[in-house]
Amino acid sequence: RIVYVNGDYVPEEEAKVSIFDRGFLMADAVYEVTSVLDGKLIDFAGHRARLGRSLTELQMDAPVTDDELLEIHRELVKRNGITDGLVYLQVTRGNPGDRDFAFPNPAVKPGLFLFTQSKPGLADAPAAKAGWKIISIPDERWGRRDIKTTQLLYPSLGKMMAKKAGVDDAWLVEDGFVTEGTSNNAYIVKGRRIITRALSHDILHGITRAAVLRMAKEAQLEVEERSFTIEEAKDADEAFVTSASAFVMPVVEIDGATLGSGKPGPIAARLREIYIEESRKVAV
Ligand code: PLP
Repeated sequence: RIVYVNGDYVPEEEAKVSIFDRGFLMADAVYEVTSVLDGKLIDFAGHRARLGRSLTELQMDAPVTDDELLEIHRELVKRNGITDGLVYLQVTRGNPGDRDFAFPNPAVKPGLFLFTQSKPGLADAPAAKAGWKIISIPDERWGRRDIKTTQLLYPSLGKMMAKKAGVDDAWLVEDGFVTEGTSNNAYIVKGRRIITRALSHDILHGITRAAVLRMAKEAQLEVEERSFTIEEAKDADEAFVTSASAFVMPVVEIDGATLGSGKPGPIAARLREIYIEESRKVAV
């Protein structure tokens, strides 16, 4: 695989990052994951805009211009012959040459790292036909989940708890209400109404979420942005999650309770089709 490290395209074996890079020492870094279908980037403008917001919130400098960022994504997709897959991007506060809690002053050059992951058939993952089973666990992350940082230890532990329980993922619960999944936004469906938590510092502002809610409204579905409990979710007609890598993924079981027929619900299945179809049309 050819990866991108601080201005260079190199074979992954030759990629090097300093042990003093603050991304490595302090998770002082933000990231984005953009999916690729038919060799084209899905929702790139949204991911680029959110990266800008994450950097601003953490007072970090943008390492390259927006146009350069698109160019690097495209070049990696091309060099690695990616038809379907993902591009991972990470920006760190850089390498001050030593370890210190305070940010380097003056700022040092930010680190910029990208790599691709090939996932043939990403859009027709068999999991989407079966739907995901999930468990609920407490949300023990920090308070600024709207910033897409690389502090992923708790979501990673959550994924392991799900695996141990023999299911696909976990929904995080705070003060009695679902925040989101370990790496996706969470939804329930009642009749023709889609319910998902409102945007705040409590959840990541999903790029897929924004697109799917817009498309849902265009499809004459009602959208209600409010918090819901696990009890309400277990009683819903359908549930699903969204993310750049899972698109729209139906949820068929919550904490052992089967939703509806135990098969992906028609609204989740339809939104998945619409999202993939519409996004392909405007992919770059
Ligand atoms: N919520 C969390 C915690 C995530 O990590 C992610 C994606 O990684 C999402 C939601 C979904 O965001 P997006 O649709 O932009 O991929």
